[in-house]
Amino acid sequence: MPKLSHRVSTFTDSVIRRMTRISDEYGAINLSQGFPDFDPPRPLLDALAKVAYEGPHQYSVTYGAENLRAAIARKQGKAFNREIDPETEICITCGGTEAMMSVVMSICNPGDKIMVFSPFYENYSADTILSGAEPIFIPLVPPEYNFDINLIEDGFKQGAKAIIICNPSNPCGKVFTEEELLAIGKLALKYDAFVVTDEVYEHMVYAPNHHTCMAALPGMYNNTITCNSLSKTYSITGWRLGYVVGPEEVIEACKKVHDFLTVGAASPLQEAAVTGLNFPDKYYEDLLALYTEKRKYFLDGLDSIGIKHNVPQGTYFVMIDIQEFLDMPKFKGYTDLEFCEWMIKNIGLAAVPGSSFFREPVNNLIRLHFAREKSTIDEAIRRLSKLRELAQA
Ligand code: GLN
Repeated sequence: MPKLSHRVSTFTDSVIRRMTRISDEYGAINLSQGFPDFDPPRPLLDALAKVAYEGPHQYSVTYGAENLRAAIARKQGKAFNREIDPETEICITCGGTEAMMSVVMSICNPGDKIMVFSPFYENYSADTILSGAEPIFIPLVPPEYNFDINLIEDGFKQGAKAIIICNPSNPCGKVFTEEELLAIGKLALKYDAFVVTDEVYEHMVYAPNHHTCMAALPGMYNNTITCNSLSKTYSITGWRLGYVVGPEEVIEACKKVHDFLTVGAASPLQEAAVTGLNFPDKYYEDLLALYTEKRKYFLDGLDSIGIKHNVPQGTYFVMIDIQEFLDMPKFKGYTDLEFCEWMIKNIGLAAVPGSSFFREPVNNLIRLHFAREKSTIDEAIRRLSKLRELAQA
């Protein structure tokens, strides 16, 4: 058999998505890969049904259907407090995943460095490797997930071309404050580097925290590339619709990468999604209220059974601390991955091992999410409540 590329041997498949496969195999409750178990908003489904008969069913413009780009330009323009040109400053992609990949491929040459916070959403490291670039990891230190701005300056001094900021952060739920973003932005300008943001959880930021767009900060637009997705905001993760917003030169490059990677996102789904982009502000207020309630419900559930956890400022992810279990004889020598596999098989609940997010050797945190109906959350807590007893058996 001829040899494969070196590139593909330097990373594994996505552990998040692997956990979903194992969960499905065992019929477990899947709190690993983040996606809701409830339906998208009814008007989106109606729009999709209409599109089935009325089209379009052929390719859209490669970088996105004109009406969807116009709708995104309106929404992002409001968020950035500036006019966005839908023709030159937006590229619609197949999910946030392709958005980030096309950005990293557009800005990096082989050997370039790019800063990534740790813990990080696992795609970023694969995106970097596939682009031939090298990540410089900046620790976000639990339990507060704070960072040292001097390490970021060091990274820029080493020539980092960009820093990726997931805001709010998957998996740790950190919401970057305006002050933190201003400090990072100032350094990016000083060292003439890009800030690449992933804002797919922008509408899940819990009071008193609030979401700040890096691109909206003074002087930052030309150095900021924003990746976003419709998946979480409209509960349509399977539609695979995402986009990049940024300055014209960057988007020009992204359009080229995107064209040859995928040609374009599914045109019927783009057409139906326009309905969502045109929802009034109340839609986003209701979405936040829904997730605020689910967060409380899930965290109260964890507290009621004495499971240690962080309190996410944003996203629908919660990190729980499994150290007390790893200290038990039954789990002696277990990795967090082995513990997650044991949980799926023995209590019927799937989580993501924290080690897949951390650069540092962290083995005691696992990630769960609460984008689930209350009845599913109830059952998940019931299953978690059996952990101690089973662990001691
Ligand atoms: N962002 C989601 C998660 O971290 C998954 C996204 C994906 O699998 N493409 O679980």
